Amino acid sequence: MSVISDVIAKVKEKDSSQPEFIQAVTEVMTTLEPTVEKHPEFVKANIYERIVEPDRAIIFRVPWEDDKGVVHVNRGFRVQFNNAIGPYKGGLRFHPSVNLGVIKFLGFEQIFKNSLTTLPMGGGKGGSDFDPKGKSDREVMRFCYAFMRELFRHIGADVDVPAGDIGVGGREIGFMYGYYKKIRNEHTGVLTGKGLEYGGSLIRPEATGYGTVYFAAEMLATRNLDFKGKRVIVSGSGNVSQYAVEKVNHLGGKAITLSDSNGTIVDEEGIDAKKLAYVMELKNVKRGRIKEYADKYKVPYYEGLSVWQVIKEKGLKHDIALPCATQNEINKELAEAMVKNGCMCVSEGANMPSDLDAIKVYQSNNVLYGPAKAANAGGVATSGLEMSQNSLRLSWTREEVDQRLHNIMKNIHKSCLDAAEAYGKKGDYLTGANIAGFIKVAKAMLAYGIV
Ligand code: NDP
Repeated sequence: MSVISDVIAKVKEKDSSQPEFIQAVTEVMTTLEPTVEKHPEFVKANIYERIVEPDRAIIFRVPWEDDKGVVHVNRGFRVQFNNAIGPYKGGLRFHPSVNLGVIKFLGFEQIFKNSLTTLPMGGGKGGSDFDPKGKSDREVMRFCYAFMRELFRHIGADVDVPAGDIGVGGREIGFMYGYYKKIRNEHTGVLTGKGLEYGGSLIRPEATGYGTVYFAAEMLATRNLDFKGKRVIVSGSGNVSQYAVEKVNHLGGKAITLSDSNGTIVDEEGIDAKKLAYVMELKNVKRGRIKEYADKYKVPYYEGLSVWQVIKEKGLKHDIALPCATQNEINKELAEAMVKNGCMCVSEGANMPSDLDAIKVYQSNNVLYGPAKAANAGGVATSGLEMSQNSLRLSWTREEVDQRLHNIMKNIHKSCLDAAEAYGKKGDYLTGANIAGFIKVAKAMLAYGIV
């Protein structure tokens, strides 16, 4: 057995109840095969087996009271996966599907993503199975306070710096930061995604969506193509999706879909700036459903279907796909439908939206494929810029942050291509991203000895 298949087999055995984690480990480890021969020192120090084991996984009780005085209990998680190159860094997800395996997959991916940004950030992730949907602002506030009442003892500006993710946006970060500040009596950069008034960075809300589109633009440029006039599929309608649509519009493309967990809208005219402003109000303020877009703009709505199922069932033609909702949105058969309907570029805003078979379909059909850990790294990169500004106690302008974000995405794109070529997999962004992210972390781990 090779070192790599041995590690995958052990994870499958030890973590058999964590399918998402096994999937992420299999995807990353398989592509690291070419590093085994070139780096016998990594094999000797058993880096491959050590890197799939988190430094620690914290699980805690989160009791809170709803508006009627009923007491509820949710489960809280923080997985501090690897801090070889910097403090743990990674978002918090509030969604009923959250469990230890999901948080471990996200934390594992985060190690390599953060390394790719070139900023000094380790990998971590956390969250809860709490569902903010349908809760009042006060209920969300009480939950966030209860969550931070335990989390605060595990984090710190130089230790572990959480941010947002699904179900955790500006409102939740505000509540959690406010509570941390109250009980710690300190105003430090312990969370990112903060409001501008209390230490946030310009462009942080935009960063993941913008970055995903910048990465796609870099991939398209390798074939002398760009976004102008292209039909673009976007899934989800949250933070990442909204700003992906905005940047597609800036670059002259036409975003024609959005979705949520209830269904999908298709707007053949394109989701322009005015319609996008409506979506932002609908989703971020009114906290409504995407169906209301269809009612307002008289466009088709497909209840119960994901964007990808709509492509398959209705034959929706497109050029570029930006999956921005959640993991495992796209399987083999949906990826085949995408290829059949013209898709030539996939840039992943969400984490692990394509399963392993879907990725094979992209690769065997010469689709430009930007894997999540590269394509959506703009979010955490800008969180890194927020941490820098907090440490320096100053704020950069919108243009300055956007310029830095754009440069980081260009550099990540180049690192992926360079690493892919150096390890004999020219043009393979998936292998390139994994190897480029891994090498730096592995070297740091080696330098520390056996800790
Ligand atoms: P939001 O909570 O703002 O939006 C999530 C969107 O995806 C919503 O439209 C939601 O619909 C939909 N969605 C979530 N879960 C499911 C599901 N199981 N099935 C169908 N639709 C679903 O989250 P973000 O935009 O912040 O995050 C989206 C993705 O991007 C995630 O994979 C996240 O990990 C990734 N990401 C986010 C970053 C960030 O900076 N925010 C950084 C890097 C990656 P509904 O409202 O119905 O739940």
